[in-house]
Amino acid sequence: MKILITGGTGYIGSHTILMLLNEGYDVIVIDNFSNSSPKVIERIEFLSQKKVCFHEGDIRDERFLKSVFKEHVITTVIHFASLKSVSESISMPIEYYDNNISGTLTLLKVMNYFGVNNFIFSSSATVYGAPSRIPLDESCDTGDTTNPYGTSKYFLEQILIDTQRANPALNIMLLRYFNPVGAHSSGFIGEDPNGIPNNLFPYITQVAIGRLPRLSIFGDDYPTEDGTGVRDYIHVMDLASGHVAALNRQHVLTGLRCYNLGTGKGYSVKEIVETFQKITGKKIPYIVSARRPGDIAECWSSPELAQKELHWEAKRSLEDMVIDAWNWQNKNPNGYLE
Ligand code: NAD
Ligand code: UDP
Repeated sequence: MKILITGGTGYIGSHTILMLLNEGYDVIVIDNFSNSSPKVIERIEFLSQKKVCFHEGDIRDERFLKSVFKEHVITTVIHFASLKSVSESISMPIEYYDNNISGTLTLLKVMNYFGVNNFIFSSSATVYGAPSRIPLDESCDTGDTTNPYGTSKYFLEQILIDTQRANPALNIMLLRYFNPVGAHSSGFIGEDPNGIPNNLFPYITQVAIGRLPRLSIFGDDYPTEDGTGVRDYIHVMDLASGHVAALNRQHVLTGLRCYNLGTGKGYSVKEIVETFQKITGKKIPYIVSARRPGDIAECWSSPELAQKELHWEAKRSLEDMVIDAWNWQNKNPNGYLE
């Protein structure tokens, strides 16, 4: 049983591969390094003491994909490969739709050609748009997304629903991630964004390490307890174990299924800054600036369905997320660039 991981050298893929290798899975990895470093492979090999079977290439390249599927008997695909920057997607919508949608369509065609029926898809809480109610459960409305990245995830969910309807032999899981943060506790692999980070955690760790002067808190006039935005942060290793759970349960949970992967708890930006300062002893200078366009006040998950059906729940605390994010940044001040 071989599991194909697309986008496997990226942030979430690398942590998931490490966990799968440690659990004895046979893993084949694809990436085009558009947003990751080949160093990730060395580090996973060091941590797992196993060789990683890696193929460099683009998921939009049908010939490349066919050569990989021909070489290995693949039973399941975990599909992480995607462009993921909200701000970039607004200025480069065609690139985002091409990469995310054309890439997934090519992958689905090749899976169909080789009769591979099990698919686990990286979706996002962003498909819920402005939440109709909180906590968000899987029956909440989707769509009404606010940027091309989120829309690409929403469209892909619709494409996967139609594809599974047309071919009931397909088993598809849509995993809607909330806010992945943190790193493997070794500090050997972690999140290494290109340029100035868009997301809160890497921004804070880069301020703490001295790469950035101060944090801007985007708005303190939201209708939340302290006025700053509230999100459901989930440790990336908990997210990785969510994929292992999905893989282990897909033979029972057949057809099309959709699960939130979150903790069910929300923390505000100010709570994150305070917790980070308390745990690391590092001062995080900040200013309060205008709200970021497209941001919502608050968003957290109901993780109940995943608990019930995947037999999975997030175990790591906010303190663990902060400790591991800081350990990674501290040991790798410039990410994978040595
Ligand atoms: P990432 O950018 O770190 O990893 C994605 C990987 O895919 C990168 O290594 C990149 O080089 C590769 N890739 C992109 N396009 C490719 C292509 N055409 N062919 C081959 N490889 C390609 O992102 P991540 O944070 O690990 O996210 C993984 C998945 O989870 C993505 O689908 C993302 O949209 C989704 N997601 C991420 C978050 C988050 O906050 N990190 C939240 C919700 C959903
Ligand atoms: N945020 C912030 N400053 C930053 C980055 C993010 O105040 O430099 C806030 C953002 O407005 C949101 C929260 O932190 O309330 C999480 O943002 P992030 O971009 O990490 O995730 P999102 O939920 O937007 O995908």
